[in-house]
Amino acid sequence: MTVDARTAAGVHAGLAPDQDRRAPERGYAGLSWWLEDAGEELVPRPPLDGSMDVDVAILGAGFTGLWTALELLKREPSLRVAVVEREIAGFGASGRNGGWCSGELNISMRTLAERHGAEAAKAVRRTMHDTVDEVGSASAAEGIDACFRKGGAISVARTTAELPAMWAEVEEYERFGFGEQCVPLDRASLDDHLRVPGAAGAVFMPACAAVHPGRLVRGLARAVEARGGEILEQTGVTGFARRGRRSGTLMGRATGSDERATLRTRRGDVRADTVVLAGEAYLTQLPQLHRQLLPIYSLIVLTEPLSDEQWSSIGWQGHECVSSFRLTIDYLSRTPDGRILFGGRGAPYHFGSRIAPAFDRDSDTHAMLRRMFAKWFPTLRGIAFTHAWGGPLGMPRDWEPTFSYDRETGIASARGYTGHGVATANLAGRVLADLITDRRTEITELPFVNHRSRDWEPEPLRWLGARYVQLSMMRLDRLGERDGKAPTGRSLAERLSRH
Ligand SMILES: Cc1cc2nc3c(=O)[nH]c(=O)nc-3n(C[C@H](O)[C@H](O)[C@H](O)COP(=O)(O)OP(=O)(O)OC[C@H]3O[C@@H](n4cnc5c(N)ncnc54)[C@H](O)[C@@H]3O)c2cc1C
Repeated sequence: MTVDARTAAGVHAGLAPDQDRRAPERGYAGLSWWLEDAGEELVPRPPLDGSMDVDVAILGAGFTGLWTALELLKREPSLRVAVVEREIAGFGASGRNGGWCSGELNISMRTLAERHGAEAAKAVRRTMHDTVDEVGSASAAEGIDACFRKGGAISVARTTAELPAMWAEVEEYERFGFGEQCVPLDRASLDDHLRVPGAAGAVFMPACAAVHPGRLVRGLARAVEARGGEILEQTGVTGFARRGRRSGTLMGRATGSDERATLRTRRGDVRADTVVLAGEAYLTQLPQLHRQLLPIYSLIVLTEPLSDEQWSSIGWQGHECVSSFRLTIDYLSRTPDGRILFGGRGAPYHFGSRIAPAFDRDSDTHAMLRRMFAKWFPTLRGIAFTHAWGGPLGMPRDWEPTFSYDRETGIASARGYTGHGVATANLAGRVLADLITDRRTEITELPFVNHRSRDWEPEPLRWLGARYVQLSMMRLDRLGERDGKAPTGRSLAERLSRH
């Protein structure tokens, strides 16, 4: 099987079939400030050189693939693990994100409780909160300096229109017994963290750390190698095959051979007992998974380093991650060298789930983010923005992540974090490692285990639906900002995207 021809044409337009990779203009460091500041030359590791046999073959050297490899090798050091990566470790969302290592998921406790029961919803919440600390301790144990700083998160209702969403969040945390994880802040307490002019309210959520995702993902790749794992870069997977028995006839007699699970590449096959598909948004380029996720672009702008006076003017002294309650999502974090990262959704979904380097830089969306930044921090007007980038994240139809393993077919996968993958990928890695090594643990009982989301609609319905919801959310945010009108939750777009 091969990568869907139309999609591949979108991604690798103009490249000869064997050159299924493309470094950005300024090399891989040009993909994001995080990769530029990763503290190493981003020289690709050697590619696969002919077919090979291993115990576990993993597609994708992002957080999911690398945590899975590392956790497998921690459990069973003698396992042969190979990670097959089309570009370099950290090329995907893992090397480009907002640096929030957060205990939050995109799916609410309410929805999880409706689907799986209140106890399962609470178990997810507790596990996610613990996972934030696990990322800090597991990376430190591997000698990775991921600049992990657990300063919590502040969500600000920037206008009165955002207050109902804020109070709904507070109420949900209280109802499930996690009130201390979402604490309303009065004006003075908010000002102690950050001064946001005109803020109508805010909450503090302690289960969040700021990390340097570039250093984390690159450090994880080295840690996997130090434990004996192999990382094959510049090697695009064109398809995969399940484990099974292939039967046929030879001179009239029935024959059969056992086939191992396989990652197929143009440089050879990687055969294994288990194949792990860890490509998040890019998994949509494999025909079998094409409609499992919606690739949605999140874009980021980054300021120059702030002076001490500028930091004082906004009163942001700690390492809290910051966001608002807008429907279209914005997120801020503070880099280790004193810049502000400002990210948001809002870039359009592309017909046919296309992913292309050009979509990382959407000038209208980047300009909108710079304008939004000025509204957050009027005292920083005139500050220079030095970087702008973006990348695709994977959104499942029911907002619920999947951590799956089927011993019979030998296929495992973790995906569908909808922009909350920095911590979740670590959990996914531990869950997959437990499942593959046949361990039954508390985390293998979570509702995401062996969950499969229903597929997204075929085109053109998918594009029509996605664009309708995206544009409606932007309109509702604009109305809220202009007239203080809170979304009712009853509009079609809000009902379609309820989670
Ligand atoms: C702009 C942006 C901001 C974000 N901000 C945050 C945040 O602040 N906090 C948070 O929790 N989450 C955030 N996310 C989401 C988070 O970064 C991701 O959920 C997470 O990094 C996913 O990790 P992954 O390893 O599953 O996928 P990825 O990091 O996307 O890795 C997939 C890898 O697979 C490789 N690959 C794909 N196809 C193939 C193939 N055919 N053959 C071989 N290799 C292949 C890719 O090159 C890539 O390296 C953000 C995402 C984006 C895009």
